Amino acid sequence: TRVLGIEGTAWAASAAVFDTETDDVFIETDAYEPDSGGIHPREAAEHMHDAIPRVVETALAHARETFDGPDTEPPVDAVAFSRGPGLGPCLRTVGTAARALAQSLDVRLIGVNHMVAHLEIGRHTADFDSPVCLNASGANAHLLAYRNGRYRVLGETMDTGVGNAIDKFTRHVGWSHPGGPKVEAAAKDGELIALPYVVKGMDFSFSGIMSAAKQRYDDGIPVEDICYSLQETIFAMLTEVAERALSLTGSDELVLGGGVGQNARLREMLAEMCEQRGADFHAPEPRFLRDNAGMIAVLGAKMYEAGETLAIEDSRVDPNFRPDQVPVTWRTDEPE
Ligand code: ATP
Repeated sequence: TRVLGIEGTAWAASAAVFDTETDDVFIETDAYEPDSGGIHPREAAEHMHDAIPRVVETALAHARETFDGPDTEPPVDAVAFSRGPGLGPCLRTVGTAARALAQSLDVRLIGVNHMVAHLEIGRHTADFDSPVCLNASGANAHLLAYRNGRYRVLGETMDTGVGNAIDKFTRHVGWSHPGGPKVEAAAKDGELIALPYVVKGMDFSFSGIMSAAKQRYDDGIPVEDICYSLQETIFAMLTEVAERALSLTGSDELVLGGGVGQNARLREMLAEMCEQRGADFHAPEPRFLRDNAGMIAVLGAKMYEAGETLAIEDSRVDPNFRPDQVPVTWRTDEPE
């Protein structure tokens, strides 16, 4: 099976080709970089409008080059796209492009949940059976595990996503978007100061810690100390809930998903926790952690093989698409 994936939920205009025979994932991404401030939904959608045709053309050219079937056949079996969650204006632009492409190639259309794709790419690259997944991305933060035909949300942020929380602090400090890598670099020279730590069961909250971090900065505390302490506190919260999720599900596999997963300190804390409890930990390579169409094509291929295709008239995007809305029909071999 060969699937062309398209991603465009927020900042990454991305297209990919996945081939199940070779396991090769080709990805072409064009990132939206705001001039100032954070991601502006209208500007991000304009970026999609501008960049999606280019990245799709590059991916299609790759698909044609690597296709050994007749010239009269389309070089892929299906087009998969991110249906949500994400910014409405971006999703609508990308959804329109995906429908048009599927129709012009005369292949099936597949609507992929972006958060389930973050999980499935980790399961795919680690070859894990039934992991708990910590999704630490820009606009989201939650723990997922499979039960009775769905990926259930075991715990999640009660306010902002983890990356967005970090980016709010860096905007306050005047650093350009995205803030995560800058916090990681500055944290190397920092010392620990107290910040609010909010975990309730398997849910957690970042709003208090963000206000406190901004306040400490305004009070003149060195920014390196705040960055170090932000990482230590936020990642300890995520590690605590991930451990609780492993303990409650009895799973001994943890995968990481999302752009914040590129952070070495977060990976280190999760790996240490897993080692202590004898669990396996897997963080996909960075190109699969941040938003990318590779994960959309990989899950798209699994859904295609399970017959999960979409009629054009049913293919509306959903900015609030939750992972537990998706019936997981491609895991027929799984125990309940
Ligand atoms: P979602 O997948 O929820 O739609 P998103 O579209 O915002 O999220 P991702 O690519 O998953 O995008 O994550 C982007 C976020 O990752 C940004 O908030 C960015 O600051 C953060 N990030 C990137 N690199 C690092 C890093 N090294 N450390 C911490 N955070 C990082």
